[in-house]
Amino acid sequence: MLISSIVRLTLGIKDHRVVSTTLGNNELQIHLDAKRGRKLPCAVCGRPCRAKDKIRERRWLHVSLWGIPVCLYYCPRRVRCPEHGIKVERVPWNIGKKPVSFPLITVLAFWSRMLAWDQVARLFHVSWNTVRSAVDAAIAYGRTCEQYQSVRFIGIDEISRKKGHVYHTQVYDLEGKRLLWTGAHRDKDSLRRFFAWWGEERTAAIEGVCCDMWQNYIDVIRERCGESVIVFDKFHIVRHLLEAVDKVRRMEIKAVGGVDAEALKGTRYIWLKNPWNLTDRQEARLTDLLKRNLRIVKAYLLKESFRKLWDYTRRAWAANYLKRWFWWATHSRIKPLRDFAWMLRRHEEAILAYFDLRIDNGSVEAMNNNAKAISHRARGYRSETTFSLAMIHGLGKLELPKCRHTF
Ligand SMILES: [Zn+2]
Repeated sequence: MLISSIVRLTLGIKDHRVVSTTLGNNELQIHLDAKRGRKLPCAVCGRPCRAKDKIRERRWLHVSLWGIPVCLYYCPRRVRCPEHGIKVERVPWNIGKKPVSFPLITVLAFWSRMLAWDQVARLFHVSWNTVRSAVDAAIAYGRTCEQYQSVRFIGIDEISRKKGHVYHTQVYDLEGKRLLWTGAHRDKDSLRRFFAWWGEERTAAIEGVCCDMWQNYIDVIRERCGESVIVFDKFHIVRHLLEAVDKVRRMEIKAVGGVDAEALKGTRYIWLKNPWNLTDRQEARLTDLLKRNLRIVKAYLLKESFRKLWDYTRRAWAANYLKRWFWWATHSRIKPLRDFAWMLRRHEEAILAYFDLRIDNGSVEAMNNNAKAISHRARGYRSETTFSLAMIHGLGKLELPKCRHTF
């Protein structure tokens, strides 16, 4: 009868009893029944109601014991609720229509935050699909606990899966450092789906949105969240600048010949890295390169001087500096940098908005790296929905369901 006690303990039941425990069919079969004369809670309102009759027997997979699969068998009762009429009882270890007990769901969901899903499946003798549905149920539970009422600043970024063949739009809570939503593609409809789910009330509470200069996103933010301030992420801006510098290097190698072209070989990271991150050897090469009369040198100096922009504490001073930098870049006679400068000019408002709100997607980048690890660990999720579940489960910081017994 020790096993019965363990089952009662792990399920935390009061109105039900263990009728029998048998070992058969390679599993430990636990048969349960409702205690005689007990009132049972209505599935809709939870009010204790008089039991009426039984329905068909159901089977739930429970947490395995010493590696032996454990299954619960029970015929749920129908109850007569004064408010809702004839309903099925609220079975304490049940969640939705899942053939898995509530404690098992919490255990699977807990471990699948840390391990690959197939490992969790092997560890608990369940199928991969069971793990998936446990994660699904845990997210549903977490979302009912979390109303997201305090979200003021969101960050939008994209992530690729299937080796860059499919993109996902990810929406983060910048203050809470958590993923709010993810959806396939990076077109207007993807972001519209986010706002549809997020709802009008919570959208009205958003004060700032940080993203890349990606027109699809900008259009939808203006359309759905017009009151908020758009801030272009400074890390993305710098990335565009680095791309421009790299373009100059490639053009230069083609344009110049002889010794200069030879000196430029393998210098990509010397130009792109922050100077304090260079190795001694790279530093020595840079010193040599800077003495040459090359356009890449000019581009490099412009890149380095751009960094100063972020040091300004006042928007007006930053605006002043940006104007000066614009003049230098547009008069440099280097096309990639001129193009970059004009792009800044077109988006000046959203770039300078940084100095009002001070939000960037720095934490998002870190989370996106984590996201890559999650995606990699599962060796590529088969479908979009599964990928989304894994992302929200791993990065959403949602509350996990709790059961009475800690496994
Ligand atoms: Zn009821």
